[in-house]
Amino acid sequence: MKALVLTEYDHFQYQEVPQPSVGPEDVLVEVKACGICGSDVHGMDGSSGRRRPPIIMGHEAAGVVSQLGNQATDWQVGDRVTFDSTVYCGRCRFCRQGAVNLCDARRVLGVSCEEFRRDGAFAQYVVVPQHIVYRLPEALSFEHAATVEPVSIAVHAVGRLPVALGDTAVVVGSGMIGLLALQALRAAGCGRILAVDLDRQRLELASRLGADEVISAEDGDVAAEVLRRTAGRGADSAVEAVGIAPTVAAAMRSVRKGGAVALVGNLSPQVDLPLQTIVTREITLYGSCASRGEWPACLEMISRGTIDVGPLISAVAPLKEGASWFARLRQAGSGLMKVVLKPSD
Ligand SMILES: [Zn+2]
Ligand SMILES: [Zn+2]
Repeated sequence: MKALVLTEYDHFQYQEVPQPSVGPEDVLVEVKACGICGSDVHGMDGSSGRRRPPIIMGHEAAGVVSQLGNQATDWQVGDRVTFDSTVYCGRCRFCRQGAVNLCDARRVLGVSCEEFRRDGAFAQYVVVPQHIVYRLPEALSFEHAATVEPVSIAVHAVGRLPVALGDTAVVVGSGMIGLLALQALRAAGCGRILAVDLDRQRLELASRLGADEVISAEDGDVAAEVLRRTAGRGADSAVEAVGIAPTVAAAMRSVRKGGAVALVGNLSPQVDLPLQTIVTREITLYGSCASRGEWPACLEMISRGTIDVGPLISAVAPLKEGASWFARLRQAGSGLMKVVLKPSD
């Protein structure tokens, strides 16, 4: 089969590789669409330590079941499916409590690090265990279905927050996850949503996708602006979708006393926290990693348009042109949001 292989750091080769072998409980999926994730773009130069070549990246995919292991009885050849980005064991203490995103044996598709190596979906075929596979709603296209992984990350983060009907929320960082989080906040019942970013184009997209107000981080102190717009009180909750010191601090200073912040972005492994703000204002911080069981709800929300992913797909391109799309995504200010690659084109 053909695959886009990261053969060494910063270098791709679209090449012939052996088709993956199918274990008893596995399904082989013919990939129809696979999105490029920010973590792939940041990981390809070795900086994250989680894309060690050679590796076939890609964990945001949808396709058609093309072969079944002899015990993979839940599925049939021809089923239109997507699958979780995380292979979890289903047996450890965390999995048995439903916290599959915290599985002790967690392996992410298309990731190679010190602990594991698992080829992903920038290929004609990918093999996955049947228990992480989900059926696509009939009307949902493969391209839109391929965005369910980032949607699930945003929905999980919002689900961590104690959102009440009519709440005011701030989304710090209006990239892919932030723009999905703002739609999830709306679906969760928020009455007023403020989106923050440095990039004017992204703020325009935030408005288009339902942000009531936008704040340009270029115009000065974001938290001061949020306080000014909320009569000095602050927002009820914030979603932080960047993960660097100034944006993390802005999220924490933007919420009211007793407010909550969901932390999704993690560009920096370590940041300073405004400790006294958190302690004296009793702010609750929720780390949020991947998702746990939100996939069917997310597929439904995308399919119904509750979460509109169409405007977030910047380009759909053949997999063989993948290397050049990665190069474009690495250029700052490219204006690109999600790029979806299709092996069959
Ligand atoms: Zn991803
Ligand atoms: Zn587990």
